[in-house]
Amino acid sequence: MAVMDELIDDLQIQIAKADNFPKFIKGIDSFNKKALPIFVESGLTGSYAAAFLLKISNSLVGKYQYINRHEQLIYAPYSLFVDPSNKCPLHCPGCLHNRVFQDKIIPDWPNGLLQESVYTSFIERFGPYASSILFFNWGEPLLNPKTPKFIRQAKSFLLHTSLSSNLSINFDAESLVQSGLDYMILSVDGATPKTYKQYRQGGNFNLVIKNIKRIVAAREKLRVSTPWLCWQFLLFEHNKHEQGDAKAMAQELGVDAIKFSTPYDVIWRPDLQLAQNCPANKYTFKRKCKSYGKIETMLAPSFAKILRQKWEDKLNRSVASQMSEKRTGKTCEWLYSTIVMDALGRYLPCCYVPRKKAGFTYIFGDTGSYATGERNGSPFNSEYYRFSRNHFVWLSELETAGGQAPTLEDNKHATYCVACPNKDLPPLINNNDLNRYLKVMDTTNILSNLNMQIISNWKF
Ligand code: SF4
Ligand code: SF4
Repeated sequence: MAVMDELIDDLQIQIAKADNFPKFIKGIDSFNKKALPIFVESGLTGSYAAAFLLKISNSLVGKYQYINRHEQLIYAPYSLFVDPSNKCPLHCPGCLHNRVFQDKIIPDWPNGLLQESVYTSFIERFGPYASSILFFNWGEPLLNPKTPKFIRQAKSFLLHTSLSSNLSINFDAESLVQSGLDYMILSVDGATPKTYKQYRQGGNFNLVIKNIKRIVAAREKLRVSTPWLCWQFLLFEHNKHEQGDAKAMAQELGVDAIKFSTPYDVIWRPDLQLAQNCPANKYTFKRKCKSYGKIETMLAPSFAKILRQKWEDKLNRSVASQMSEKRTGKTCEWLYSTIVMDALGRYLPCCYVPRKKAGFTYIFGDTGSYATGERNGSPFNSEYYRFSRNHFVWLSELETAGGQAPTLEDNKHATYCVACPNKDLPPLINNNDLNRYLKVMDTTNILSNLNMQIISNWKF
């Protein structure tokens, strides 16, 4: 423990002294080199220790490049969003699967299921560096029978895995539990079929309850504590009187928590009023259960290959033009923390729905063109990502010394970031999530609580 304290102190000193990015990177490489044998000595296998250090150093490099508003990044996103299915059999009024909503926003959202080859290419590229993956965005993930396999693959890259489902479909509950899924959100906005159907249109309440029972039974049969189940109940005027019943039902079913949340307003549906005088709330039930599943120690073979790459080599290979610059100004954290992929393999910067006829680009790349080598480098550095990152720096410079507007090639639309009203939204994964992740990964307690706090809240 004391050795790690010294090493982290040393890293803090080196980073404080580093007045440019190459010096900072040297400090990170030197930390990794010294920390690896100490991690191994604590009882971790060499590959696991190297994997753990890769996740830690990726997050530190990420923070540095975010703070300095770099355009081109040598690290990879630490949170991943994937839609195993773009389809959903329900048509909730606040969702793009609803006809009225479709008429309002005209989404560019073709149906489809995520192909295994597309997912494999994605997870092998980003999985080694990331700490979490969410298997949902705008579709029902359990429509894809490959979803449990996708989760298992993600676990082999030591990712924390989450999924959100309406549960109003038939699926193999045992295979889902066996996948090692860590956390599952159950979207159920009512305690009776009549109330439930007012928002979850096309859903079947009795099937949902049956599926919850199946998952709990599979967990018991397989003697595992995950997935940790959280019933999510969106609060409207029409369902707020059923909170007590839903809470009792959730506990009886073996769900781990129930969360009453305020949804986005559905103003085009006057019959769906947001609940008044009804604050959001969360109740966790007694069952003692870690929110993370068994840590997979069989690392994916493709993971092992990159574990000992030095950050300095990545920097030297990069074509970055502004690596030494320290830029400032507002920006959107999504552009530095997360990559989103839909079931068609299209990369999006955040959870906004791509729209037709919007005059802006929502899609920042696609797996196909990167997989075939049509495009060089990482999708996280596509021209759309770089344009968006530069756009924010340019906006800030306008308020100070002036600056040059970022441009895209001819005949390409600017990205939606230019018009986005929600650019100050925090990313879904924050420092606390990273801290929790470190605690789970650190199976030999080599890091003290203070070490973990320093790493997850690093100040430059
Ligand atoms: S269940 Fe989810 S994905 Fe399906 S329509 Fe409702 S909000 Fe959309
Ligand atoms: S600025 Fe808006 S559109 Fe761009 S990544 Fe951030 S939230 Fe998404």
